[in-house]
Amino acid sequence: MKKNAIIVGAGIGGMATAIRLLNRGFKVQIFEKEKSIGGKVNILEKDGFKFDLTASILMTPDIYKEIFFDIGKNPDHYLNFLKIDPFYRVFFETGSYMDFYENINKTIESIEAISTEDSIGYMKFIDKTYEKYKIADENFLRCNFDSFNSFFNIGTLRKALKLKPLKSTYNYLKNYIKDERLISFLCFQAMYIGVSPFKESNVYTLIPLVSQLYGLRLIEGGMYSYINALKKVIEELEGEIYTNAKVDKVLIKEGVAQGIVSNNNIYKSDIVICNAEYSYAVEELIDEEFITLKDRALKHSPSVFIIYLGLDKKYENLKVHNHFLSKNFRNSIESFFHGEMCSEPSIYIYSPSRIDSNMAPNGCEAINVMIRVPNLMQSNGKWDEGYKKNIRNILIDKIKMIQGFEDIEEHIILEEYLTPYDLRERFNAYGGAAFSISHNLFQTNYFRPHIKHKKIKNLYFTGGSVHPGTGVSLVLLNSKLVEESVMRDIK
Ligand SMILES: Cc1cc2nc3c(=O)[nH]c(=O)nc-3n(C[C@H](O)[C@H](O)[C@H](O)COP(=O)(O)OP(=O)(O)OC[C@H]3O[C@@H](n4cnc5c(N)ncnc54)[C@H](O)[C@@H]3O)c2cc1C
Repeated sequence: MKKNAIIVGAGIGGMATAIRLLNRGFKVQIFEKEKSIGGKVNILEKDGFKFDLTASILMTPDIYKEIFFDIGKNPDHYLNFLKIDPFYRVFFETGSYMDFYENINKTIESIEAISTEDSIGYMKFIDKTYEKYKIADENFLRCNFDSFNSFFNIGTLRKALKLKPLKSTYNYLKNYIKDERLISFLCFQAMYIGVSPFKESNVYTLIPLVSQLYGLRLIEGGMYSYINALKKVIEELEGEIYTNAKVDKVLIKEGVAQGIVSNNNIYKSDIVICNAEYSYAVEELIDEEFITLKDRALKHSPSVFIIYLGLDKKYENLKVHNHFLSKNFRNSIESFFHGEMCSEPSIYIYSPSRIDSNMAPNGCEAINVMIRVPNLMQSNGKWDEGYKKNIRNILIDKIKMIQGFEDIEEHIILEEYLTPYDLRERFNAYGGAAFSISHNLFQTNYFRPHIKHKKIKNLYFTGGSVHPGTGVSLVLLNSKLVEESVMRDIK
């Protein structure tokens, strides 16, 4: 008889794990509390505009394709990846800007305009960090660290030391580059998973490295096209997805997960895989006796505030991914880690409609304007209408400083917001943190919550809150580790 798996949540992790288990012959049922699937990778559609709700930066397209190849399908039948070049435009408050290209010669030309010393430094940074990336990819990101011995052995520890993880991102970059604007741009990317570049490990410089080496892609129709592609595969493999189906409890009997309770109904299964965030799940879905002191002590990442703007004009000065770096960059980053709002923020602006006409009506632009803000545990910002408007005005005033954007306010025909409250209410993001459990060194690898619950048999976790961590590619890698773990156990 087929083994039966229940998955709590239809985020990227839940859907990817479902596909892998369906392919292994499991019967799979996914229970999703929201009316739409995808979790944080979601979509806002209105008046002909399409906005990727959160995730927008697509690195390592090969990892997105891997799940299709692993089950014998061709990703090209489901998805169309568009190249983005330049992959970043960086605006400085002084009025100048710089472009970064997949072709490193062109990037170097951009940097040479600043200084030859820094173009040499950038090449050295790429060289050294590539070596680290290879070590991390082969020895950490694709390994399951569920047991003490899997991490604490001579081989792995030696590899960990080779990563020289203790220096902060900022101090590491300082070794190679002098220009503070260039350092700020690289720091900004290293912060994508929500760690401070001034305090936390330099291992996250792998993010700018990977972007430079492999470029960035856009999936035609936006990130949500990936969710639609996964949904199609799940349907082809006869998996079942229930929406508006909140799970209230994981059924545990004598230390073994036996199924779930949803809307007062009991659903039995051989294994339960929880895609709802780990910290939320241990507090709300699992009997209290199983929460550990370590679970209670976990630290969480900051949050975000996003403005979605529909504009009735094309903005040629904009690329798909843009950064606006504050002249007081350090303060603009450190403040929200200290639980404060910053009045001089650094901003990320995403405009997929630059190269994908599916995202906005003719002659229009769809843009997301995003800043980091404290999560709801760091600060009790009310996020009422007045508070949102105030921050919104600060951001629009900053964007008006960019050449060609002086008239932006007159061309806004649609405006929506996303706050830390929305992340918490919609997706059970713990404390409204955008990037789940923080990636400080003591919450990564073996130290991050494990894929397999230590005390509850047949209960597994998938998603950004467990190893290897946050970000669509990492969550996709995690689904493979979950599959391996389940298959090892049923043998
Ligand atoms: C603002 C923002 C920007 C980001 N930008 C990028 C980016 O550019 N590139 C990138 O790669 N990554 C990015 N990320 C990270 C990426 O979006 C996440 O790491 C990834 O989507 C997490 O997927 P997941 O499967 O772990 O969980 P989630 O997406 O959180 O999915 C969990 C699912 O479980 C459901 N659920 C929760 N509780 C229950 C319950 N009790 N019953 C039933 N269902 C439940 C939720 O509704 C949700 O659908 C960004 C994240 C944010 C917030």
